Amino acid sequence: MTDCIFCKIINGDIPSYTVYEDDVVKAFLDISQSTPGHTLVVPKKHVKDMFEYDEDLAAAVFSRIPKIARAIKKSNPAIKGMNIVNNNGEVAYQSVFHSHIHLIPRYTTEDGFKMIFTDNGDKYDEAKYKEIQEAIIKQLEDEQ
Ligand code: 5GP
Ligand code: ZN
Repeated sequence: MTDCIFCKIINGDIPSYTVYEDDVVKAFLDISQSTPGHTLVVPKKHVKDMFEYDEDLAAAVFSRIPKIARAIKKSNPAIKGMNIVNNNGEVAYQSVFHSHIHLIPRYTTEDGFKMIFTDNGDKYDEAKYKEIQEAIIKQLEDEQ
């Protein structure tokens, strides 16, 4: 895609600090470095978000994640953990619409990266959980 910043990085038209590349993905340092070592794993095929992946692309892209994650972790003994995050849609904080997976090394709980999982469990009864469960199952059955 001509006006896509990540396609330009993949093509080498825009420089990046690449740490890994093969025929399926390119992994390079995120310019923002939310924490040191913050890396993006990007499929070379331009897909907007996770909703556009097929099974083969997902298998190919996600099979690359563990070895890149391990390499980042081993690169610095101060790294104690890692958040692996994928944003889909503006409402979910996606800002570059070429799908990518964030690998965010964690040093301490106060290292600059935050995620909040609100616990709304007290607002749900069995009927509500079931309604949501069944709606999703129906869509998955329709996908077969
Ligand atoms: P999103 O918000 O879509 O999940 O993440 C997009 C990420 O791309 C952001 O963390 C942002 O810092 C990063 N980014 C945007 N433009 C560039 C760029 O030109 N080079 C690199 N390396 N990262 C970029
Ligand atoms: Zn692209």
